[in-house]
Amino acid sequence: MADHGNDRDYTGLENRLGAVRIERDVMLAPMTTFRIGGPADRLLRARTAEQVVAAVSACRELDIPFFVLGRGANILVGDRGFRGLIIRCEIGGIAFADDVRVVAGSGVDTYHDLIDATVARGLGGLHHYVGIPSTVGGALWQNLHFLSPPPERARTCFIAEVLESAVVLTEEGELSTVDPAYFRFGYDYSILHDRRDIVLEATFRLEPMPAEDLRYTIRENLRWRDDRHPDLWLYPCAGSIFKKIEGIGAGRLIDECGLKGHVLGNAQIFHRHANIIVNLGGATAAEVRSLMDLAQRTVATKLGYVLEPEILMVGEF
Ligand SMILES: Cc1cc2nc3c(=O)[nH]c(=O)nc-3n(C[C@H](O)[C@H](O)[C@H](O)COP(=O)(O)OP(=O)(O)OC[C@H]3O[C@@H](n4cnc5c(N)ncnc54)[C@H](O)[C@@H]3O)c2cc1C
Repeated sequence: MADHGNDRDYTGLENRLGAVRIERDVMLAPMTTFRIGGPADRLLRARTAEQVVAAVSACRELDIPFFVLGRGANILVGDRGFRGLIIRCEIGGIAFADDVRVVAGSGVDTYHDLIDATVARGLGGLHHYVGIPSTVGGALWQNLHFLSPPPERARTCFIAEVLESAVVLTEEGELSTVDPAYFRFGYDYSILHDRRDIVLEATFRLEPMPAEDLRYTIRENLRWRDDRHPDLWLYPCAGSIFKKIEGIGAGRLIDECGLKGHVLGNAQIFHRHANIIVNLGGATAAEVRSLMDLAQRTVATKLGYVLEPEILMVGEF
């Protein structure tokens, strides 16, 4: 069966996945924190590792493009959407293996579910990332990070520090249990940027901590975010747009160029934090891209720095 505007045939995929429900022409905007993005030809909400494995192997055999979507908090989806299958990773499950180890499905929401569950057991390590929208899979892709607790805020904490192992579907189609070294974690980096492996499950080794210390860090980190970051209900966004420039800060450079608060269509360089672009309501991906181009051009011309996007562009623009 040919599809709207393109000639890709999804019959084989639908037959292969049989009982699993595949949705057609689904708008991606509501599945991203930017609330921007056109339709996906096909969408699978994968609730189990087996569904992910079956979908990926069918796509590979049938030569159908696919993209694994988490919480959609670090991407900009194009206005024309995605030709292929979006596999929304909704693999759930949180289980405590012993007093300090927790095993989580890669679709588990770190902010609301995993942090809640571990803090409730008096375990610290993931609590630094409170207030950051993410799934477990997305967190490993980007090596989720935030500043260490106040008052010092002396260093950056990374989720890599508490990862013990993960089960991945490798790009060669093997199921493999890998250790943290496999991911070659760096700042905003893991091997998942360069290999099409998919995380199915992760085990974290945490540290028992007094409830008072956990509560203090959570409270302070939420306060920090409240002061600087947009409230996603009011200002949908994807967090930092450009990569950190060591010791300088992409936001400061954009601000120095007088672009803080600059509006283009329905998108704005956030008035409180110049490294964030917000959707004022009905913004398009094209508008966000134009604002990004403007910031990159202006900072390069006026200050001589190259701004590299941190967010991933997905689909057709
Ligand atoms: C308001 C706001 C504040 C933020 N603050 C921070 C911050 O302080 N620190 C920080 O590090 N980030 C921050 N971010 C960015 C974002 O929250 C993280 O990058 C997050 O980890 C993205 O996870 P996700 O599930 O939304 O991934 P998505 O955006 O859905 O996907 C991102 C990438 O991960 C891949 N992916 C998703 N699931 C899997 C999987 N199971 N296996 C393999 N690959 C997968 C996708 O294919 C894609 O390439 C912020 C974002 C927002 C909106």
